[in-house]
Amino acid sequence: MIKKLIVIVIVIMVFEMFFILLPPTGAVEHDRTFFEKTGDVIWEVPTDKKVIALTFDDGPHSKYTPQVLDLLAKYNAKATFFVIGEHAEEFPEIIQRQIREGHEIANHTYSHYKRQNDTIDEIRLELKKTDDIILKLTGTRTAFFRPIGGNYNDMIINTAVKEGYRVIMWSWHQDTEDWKGVSARRISKKVLNNYRPGDIILFHDAGGNRSQTVKALKKIIPKLIDDGYELVTVSELLQMTGIDDVDPQ
Ligand SMILES: [Zn+2]
Repeated sequence: MIKKLIVIVIVIMVFEMFFILLPPTGAVEHDRTFFEKTGDVIWEVPTDKKVIALTFDDGPHSKYTPQVLDLLAKYNAKATFFVIGEHAEEFPEIIQRQIREGHEIANHTYSHYKRQNDTIDEIRLELKKTDDIILKLTGTRTAFFRPIGGNYNDMIINTAVKEGYRVIMWSWHQDTEDWKGVSARRISKKVLNNYRPGDIILFHDAGGNRSQTVKALKKIIPKLIDDGYELVTVSELLQMTGIDDVDPQ
């Protein structure tokens, strides 16, 4: 009997050790293939239509965002701006100009925080604060969220999805790395050597000196348009390629 008890205790101890050694969630994190199938996360869109979505993170910025907007207006191109709530609060007139000129505003957290191991509540608060500012400035809520640095895990995605967002990443062959301060030549080469229908291209209109991004766009936008591409918002990209239903309005 005692022997039996000892065996049971040992089995329980080994079992508990196993759980202690597992990551805190106790679950395996899912990858792109998994999330792409759910439709909750978009990296790019498979299509033959010549449409591309230019996206800009971290703005608005008082100097570079208006320069980007001037360029987009010149070529009648539309884009999506993944704004930081704090920046939107600081430059409401830029957000209003973006909406007036047919661009799309999306959520890129409130503070662009640097902490690790954020909690569900922290993510929800970051989303909500930015969403409230966007609603106040534009009259509509955004359906899109892009995580900081594009870093995602199950918790971040599941929280955003539960809050009603779709997570928008970018085409992996279209990361311009402009945030690293690379040259305009390198940014435009990256885009123009790799573009294809359905791409979502990543740029930054804030978070540092973005003069090279603006300079690169002067080459990229006319080249894409000359090649017959339409530069659209992420919403338009999803609607034009049948991923989303067309808004009846
Ligand atoms: Zn960012």
